[in-house]
Amino acid sequence: MSTGWSTAVVLGRSMAGLAAAAALSRHFSEVVVVEKDPDLDTEQPRPGVGQGHHYHALAQGAVEALERLLPGIIEDLRGAGAVDVPFALGVRFYDAGDWQPNRDLGFVSLNATRGLIEQATAARVRRRPAVRFLGSSRLERLVFDRSDSDRGDGSVCGVEVRRADGALETLTADLVVDCTGRVSKLPEVLVRRGFDPIQQFTLNIGISYTSALFRAPVDTADGFSAVAVLPEPPTKRGGFVARVHEDTWIVSLHTRFERELPRSHQEMLAFAETIEVPDVAAFLRHATLQGEVRSFRKGEAVWRRFDRTERFPDGLLVLGDAIASFNPIFGQGMSVATLQACVLDDVLTERSARGAGLDGISRDYFPAAMAITRAAWGSSTAVDSAYEEVTGDRNPNAAQNTKVMRGLRKLIADDPKLHADMVAVGQMTTPGDRLMTPELIARALAAAEST
Ligand SMILES: Cc1cc2nc3c(=O)[nH]c(=O)nc-3n(C[C@H](O)[C@H](O)[C@H](O)COP(=O)(O)OP(=O)(O)OC[C@H]3O[C@@H](n4cnc5c(N)ncnc54)[C@H](O)[C@@H]3O)c2cc1C
Repeated sequence: MSTGWSTAVVLGRSMAGLAAAAALSRHFSEVVVVEKDPDLDTEQPRPGVGQGHHYHALAQGAVEALERLLPGIIEDLRGAGAVDVPFALGVRFYDAGDWQPNRDLGFVSLNATRGLIEQATAARVRRRPAVRFLGSSRLERLVFDRSDSDRGDGSVCGVEVRRADGALETLTADLVVDCTGRVSKLPEVLVRRGFDPIQQFTLNIGISYTSALFRAPVDTADGFSAVAVLPEPPTKRGGFVARVHEDTWIVSLHTRFERELPRSHQEMLAFAETIEVPDVAAFLRHATLQGEVRSFRKGEAVWRRFDRTERFPDGLLVLGDAIASFNPIFGQGMSVATLQACVLDDVLTERSARGAGLDGISRDYFPAAMAITRAAWGSSTAVDSAYEEVTGDRNPNAAQNTKVMRGLRKLIADDPKLHADMVAVGQMTTPGDRLMTPELIARALAAAEST
């Protein structure tokens, strides 16, 4: 379906860029996806996505958004070997001091490597006739219609990209969507052009991951397809074990503010033995390392408030980690990006229906996109801010949140409906305020204090 707009350019071909391209391809006759990495059809992690070696939970919010944007994608993933995880029967989840119940909550999640999720998504997007992938092409600069102005006016009308052979190419566009992730330079670019500084919240979370693929029989984790251990502050170490394909598993260990990270199977096991429940270490004792042990440090969570600026150039939007990147242990990033792509699709559909152009689209898009970011930022930073080492724009609700969550975790033992609501909020299929009613907060605080 094309509704008359000509060309959109998407910057970055990771999960946000692919989801944005899927949405845009319904409305533009041409969508060019610019990516600095080569355009390869592979499951292997690539340099532009440093987090690609690490466990990526595909939350139900992302599953539903991807299926809406790219119908058939979930079957593609299954066909490529992703593992079905009946929720919460197939997941052993230790959350801040308690094992969560293993009830049937009526949906099936998928385990896969980050690389496979991106590869399957890219394959679906590539099938859209409007879409063209431009690999090995680095964004050089945004092109404005008023080339020499630094007064905070003018619209974006294209981009200049540098190809692998060094040649510069200009792409003209009705709409440019920045999906270059947490390395996006857009706030600095806007200031240089005379636009107002973008307000930014930054929290120094000091997270690091160490991960590797392992081979182990499918029943190694007592029949569970995933084990997740999330610590309660001030405890720092936790881990994930997930079967991602037949007898291939990924293990991701995580900690905060630690300099020395494991570098071998033995060191991963020694680390896992210090986690407060034995399940991750037990898995590692019976698994065979496949490939390398890799680490990734993520010092900061960042939220850029593009919605709060009075002047934002026409012809330009932002999506995914370029708006906000969160503490990854809560597994929210791909859901936020894909749900924002659904918002983009809605906004374009609505404008198209009333015959409106693209002028002022940021005023429609950013508030709705930010509602998704706000939910993810609120819940993850409330936990992060409970660590005394964390600095920056702390979440003032951290202490209350710790107590409420402790109480809710106790209540779900005997309350399947509440359990389903809690999981739905965590999986980003339901807004977080479902759990924040005065009545529920009072029940949770009473439960937290009763022990
Ligand atoms: C360790 C870790 C674990 C995570 N685990 C989860 C999880 O369990 N669940 C979950 O949902 N999310 C998780 N995330 C978050 C998730 O990886 C991201 O939210 C998701 O990939 C969407 O990011 P993005 O596409 O906005 O940016 P990115 O994935 O960072 O991609 C940006 C893209 O832009 C390209 N690019 C950058 N600059 C340029 C340029 N100048 N020119 C051209 N191209 C450029 C890059 O090469 C890259 O392809 C995790 C993140 C980390 C760090």
